[in-house]
This record gives sequence, C-alpha cells and structure tokens, in this order.
Amino acid sequence: MRRPLVMGNWKMNGRRHVAQSLLSAVAAEATTFSGVDVVVCPPHCYLGLAAEQLGDCAGIVCGAQDVSAYGDGAYTGEVSADMARDMGCEFAIIGHSERRTLFGETDGVVAQKFARALAADMTPVLCVGETAEERDAERTREVVLRQIGAVFAVCGANAFDRAVVAYEPVWAIGSGRAASPDEAQAVHRDIRDAVAQQNPEAAASLRILYGGSVKAQNARELFARADIDGGLIGGASLVAGDFVGICRAACSASA
Ligand code: PEP
Repeated sequence: MRRPLVMGNWKMNGRRHVAQSLLSAVAAEATTFSGVDVVVCPPHCYLGLAAEQLGDCAGIVCGAQDVSAYGDGAYTGEVSADMARDMGCEFAIIGHSERRTLFGETDGVVAQKFARALAADMTPVLCVGETAEERDAERTREVVLRQIGAVFAVCGANAFDRAVVAYEPVWAIGSGRAASPDEAQAVHRDIRDAVAQQNPEAAASLRILYGGSVKAQNARELFARADIDGGLIGGASLVAGDFVGICRAACSASA
C-alpha cells in the first residue's frame, strides 16, 4: 500500500504574515493527518521561514516549487537544488506546466532539473499533463508518456526509484474543472504501466498524484482510485481550512 501524499503549491502568492498564519494553521492540524505525508511548497524567499516554523512539526515538510537546471555558479536569479535542500526542502516540484508554458522549459530542461533534485538528495515531483488541445486531439497518453520518457532518457531506468509523478492536466489547473476520477485513474494507470516497462519495482511503489482543481469536496472520490496516491494542490492550498480538508480526505483514503 502506498502512503498518500498531499502537496500544497503556493505559487507566487502571499507575504511573510500570510505564510506565517497559513503555516501555523496547517501545522496545528498536523497530528490529525495520520497515515498521510504532507508537503508545503512556499515561494523560495519564504523557505527559511517555513523550515523554522515547521521545525518540530511531525508529518509536514517543505518542498521547493522549482530548482535550477544548473549547479551553483554564475546564474543570476537561480536557486540550485543544493540550496533548496540546504533550506530544508525534501521535495522539489519539477516541470510544472506554468514553468513549461510561461518560462519555456522543454522536456530536456525538465529532465536536467529532475536529475539535479535527485543529486541533491531531494525527491523530485515530476509534473506531466496535456493541454486542452492535446486532450481534444486524443493525445493525452502520447504527451504524458513523452514527458516521462524524457526523464528516463537522462536519468536512466532507476529514475523513478525515489520520485513522485503528478498528473496535472493543464486544462484543469486553476479552472475549477477537475478531471473525473475515471479519467484521471486511466492516465495514472498508463503512467504506472510506462514506468513498469522500465522498472516494475519502482512502478509499484511510485506515488502518482493528481493535480488540477482539487477541492475538499472532490478529493475523497479522486483519492479512492487505485492509482491516485494523493494530490498536488494549487489554489486550495492557500486556504488553510480547504487544504486541511484535502489532507483529511487523503487520511480516509489511507484508512
Ligand atoms: C497546480 O497549479 O499545480 C494546481 C493543481 O492548481 P489548482 O489546484 O489551483 O488547479
């Protein structure tokens, strides 16, 4: 049985006082998140604050929203995987669709970042997913498997031994229109099968999260599916009560 994982991606939102109150509200509920791993991913500039505030809070750890494809050096504005790890991040979101579409990250760059996170001893969370046009053209499977394949090409057959995949249909992100549990389950199954072709053991233990308009109301039904091992949460992770509700839904899925 895979342990469910719920991750909150705050994106570029909040200020110091917002981060502090969100962290303390979620941390206050941490003892009720039994059987579930919870990760919060604040903007890089608040990682120190988050690590300090979550210091002794069992069950909630920090993640980075992104890491550089480069190692330390003359790369103005970048944050290396080693730096994120040094700030206490145990996870790193890699290849979020906003990075791919707004900042031009190719499959190759995403794979480099994935490799950097692994080398820094973090768990990379590879985001994959199709656009609305790709979905309409029935290319979802092809797109998602290409994104996974690019990581295998750079990191080898053991790439997903210590990693997470987040299936995030681009059309579902921030739209209020989540994939149906059946739709998401089918893609998650395709992802697991593709990883199994390279490495059956890694596939069996791989946590595959669903992301895209997850709310407390739809989380339970999504997380109940055989290959949906939790969620990557955007908007709802900025409202403590909503995020806690989603973490609780994951607890019920694990019970
Ligand atoms: C995301 O951006 O990863 C995401 C899932 O956003 P939302 O939950 O707001 O759809």
